[in-house]
Amino acid sequence: MSINTQQYLHLKTSINNITLIAVSKTRPTEDISGLYDLGQRDFGENYVQEMVDKYEALPKDIRWHFIGHLQTNKVKFIAPFVSLIHGVDSFKLVQEINKQGEKNNRIINCLLQIHIAQEETKFGLNEDELDDIFGSPELKNLKNIKICGLMGMASFTENKETIRNEFRYLKTLYHSYAQLQLTNCKLQVVSMGMSADYKIAIEEGSNMVRIGSLIFGNRTTINK
Ligand SMILES: *Cc1c(COP(=O)(O)O)cnc(C)c1O
Repeated sequence: MSINTQQYLHLKTSINNITLIAVSKTRPTEDISGLYDLGQRDFGENYVQEMVDKYEALPKDIRWHFIGHLQTNKVKFIAPFVSLIHGVDSFKLVQEINKQGEKNNRIINCLLQIHIAQEETKFGLNEDELDDIFGSPELKNLKNIKICGLMGMASFTENKETIRNEFRYLKTLYHSYAQLQLTNCKLQVVSMGMSADYKIAIEEGSNMVRIGSLIFGNRTTINK
């Protein structure tokens, strides 16, 4: 088992009222169980099949966060149990999540992913696209989805000011929609910050961080 218990406990106490998502992608179920025994309940995964397998194998009071890029044709596999989908980046996906929520007779919580990094490779909405989603007349009719906040990933860079500015921009966007009061849209969550940049994210107003390698050690698989 490879959990950095010391680091985890330190993290837990130092960020106290901020929700900590333990990013367990690529990690074996034993590592998740180990962290579960320390009291952790929120886990993040970014591959559908992997998350489904782990959901089936592990205790049912775990809150599963889908943090990867979600294809519309895969929503149905996680819809019965997912706790929060972080990477929603199109209205088509919003509609599909609502449809699967309806089929499963539940309301599925989501965050809209905003493109804040300079890299082309990171997914997410720009400001206009975000406007379009919140402004869509159809949105208020979707009764089986709830948009609870925004999520973003900063650039992969050593430059702390760049990272800080990107997080600050996300928080500004969040504030500009905080007044929005549709039954199915109430912004409460700003999901930003990973192992390398969570301190900056918290300074810039994050209330949910997604941390993997700091807790579980470096992932050996490239690109995951
Ligand atoms: C992998 C991943 C993380 C965690 O990354 P670490 O650097 O291991 O903390 C957080 N968010 C997303 C979207 C990820 O894919």
